[in-house]
Amino acid sequence: MIGELRLVTRSADDTLAFAGGVAGLLRAGDVVVLAGDLGTGKTTFARGVARALGIDEPVTSPSFTIVREYEGRLPLVHVDVYRLGRLQELHDLGFDEIIGGEAVVLVEWGDAVVSLLPRDRLEVRLEAPGADDERLVSVTALGPAWAPRLDALAAVVGG
Ligand code: ADP
Ligand code: MG
Repeated sequence: MIGELRLVTRSADDTLAFAGGVAGLLRAGDVVVLAGDLGTGKTTFARGVARALGIDEPVTSPSFTIVREYEGRLPLVHVDVYRLGRLQELHDLGFDEIIGGEAVVLVEWGDAVVSLLPRDRLEVRLEAPGADDERLVSVTALGPAWAPRLDALAAVVGG
């Protein structure tokens, strides 16, 4: 398996563009974990994926609804587990059916529910080291479903 791939983005537009590049590699059923503190750009990344999948609706943080679904070139499910009380709530929301379905699933704060996620997944970690717009982004592809896409992923990360 690969190690982490790393890049730096210097604006929200950079992160949108990077997410659009990643979106080009996504297939039905893929799961992407978005990790990082508040305000580091997880929702911005989700917006970039949505845009690249041809979704025109505004993508906002689904914090209060936890799960939002969109129809694009692929169906997209955007989940934010920040306010999740218990894992059982995710089961109640049908998360088990969503995972393993046809949709691309983006999970903000997904590292908190990793036990519910499949082995095949992409992990995107965002860090804001200072008070400016710089974000350190690390990308880890896990599982055999990503193996054939690693070179293409490295190309996207490398710009
Ligand atoms: P999160 O979902 O992680 O809480 P958001 O995507 O909602 O974060 O917010 C990130 C904020 O940081 C937005 O206001 C965005 O415009 C700003 N921002 C500044 N620089 C960047 C960058 N390099 N990447 C992503 N967002 C950035
Ligand atoms: Mg968010």
